[in-house]
Amino acid sequence: MFAYRLGKEPGLLPLAVQIIYGLAVLILILSTFYFILFRFFRTSAHFAYFQLGMDAILTTFIIMVTGSFASVFSFMYLLIVIYSSILIFRKGSLILASFCSMQYSLLIGLEYHGHLSMFGMEEGLPRIGWLFVSFKVIAVVSACYAIAFLSSLLAEREKRARDQLKAMEAHVKRVEKTAAMGEMAAGLAHEIKNPLASMSGAIQLLKEDMRLEPDKVKLMQIVLREADRLSTLVSDFLQFARPSAGKPEIIQLDKTLGEILALFQKDAKSQDRITFTVDLAPNIWIKIDHGHLRQVMWNLLLNAVEAIPDRGSVTINTIPIKNEHIWIEVIDNGQGMSQATLASIFDPFFTTRADGTGLGLSIVQRILAEYDSQLDVESEAGHGTKFTLKLKQVASPVGKSTHA
Ligand code: ADP
Ligand code: MG
Repeated sequence: MFAYRLGKEPGLLPLAVQIIYGLAVLILILSTFYFILFRFFRTSAHFAYFQLGMDAILTTFIIMVTGSFASVFSFMYLLIVIYSSILIFRKGSLILASFCSMQYSLLIGLEYHGHLSMFGMEEGLPRIGWLFVSFKVIAVVSACYAIAFLSSLLAEREKRARDQLKAMEAHVKRVEKTAAMGEMAAGLAHEIKNPLASMSGAIQLLKEDMRLEPDKVKLMQIVLREADRLSTLVSDFLQFARPSAGKPEIIQLDKTLGEILALFQKDAKSQDRITFTVDLAPNIWIKIDHGHLRQVMWNLLLNAVEAIPDRGSVTINTIPIKNEHIWIEVIDNGQGMSQATLASIFDPFFTTRADGTGLGLSIVQRILAEYDSQLDVESEAGHGTKFTLKLKQVASPVGKSTHA
């Protein structure tokens, strides 16, 4: 319709309106052009500069034909600056702000000196006074820069947040992948368990039935020993990778711990060379799965005993802290650890022992994570080690308390 009016009666329209119609058509053509090019330059900063630069030039034209100094369209510069801060960030928005400021100053300067008289609106400018004119130019220019600064600040913050989110997504994906691999390894370990048990059972029978020469017996023993080690590794790994869910119950710590220690002392092949000293605070209650507590204590006690090469002592204390926490200490006077060893003892598969799996402490940590509790360690090479297990106390169940 614009084109129709333009074609039919050009003489009847004021020049400014004709130019506005022309601009509208130009913008339409440019938009189509951008639309087509956008597919190829989606991520190109140059394309964004070109597009925003063209917008700035068009805005200057619109301001020119709508009265230059008197035009109300100078705010469109600000829109361009905001847009550029989103697309090409701080540097781009400052460049665009400069570009817009330059054009506006030039436009008003030309108008002031009477070089733009074709629209018949600007003749009164010198009469307004240079002070007022420059005031308006300065206002527009500072608005452009202020907006460039502020909106690029926001845009950059948003970009940073987006980048962080992306990094987090990548991290989660990695963790998921690791978890899937762990699950696969656990599945494999589980499948190894049964054939391994059958094999060592069969070899055991063979060994008993056959009359072998002494060095062949030795070979049989090697097979059995290694099968045993493999089976320990597999079950340790399974405990680490798939810890049993556990049913936390409220238990009386001194009683349960006493039972666990008695069992351990009977089981360990260390009765004669290790002296156990036990000091348990009475009437302490915690909420934990019985099997989990046994597993944790067992691994710590075993490490303590294994750290003592010859004769030595292992001390177990429980220390209540303000009716809130309870510390369980496992202290040995064994060989202790160097700083370098200390830094790695919680890594899965880290071991300094020839027949270790390096999973004992990893299992302990894994279990403790479920109870929000903490394991601290102090050690001195040649002197011994102290592990401190920090658990939460709970109120003694009604009717069971010794005070009741
Ligand atoms: P493993 O017992 O199979 O080696 P752990 O995870 O139980 O695996 O222990 C890892 C390592 O931590 C041990 O090999 C040992 O070097 C060190 N460690 C753990 N407990 C003690 C301790 N009480 N005294 C000295 N070293 C210890
Ligand atoms: Mg161990």
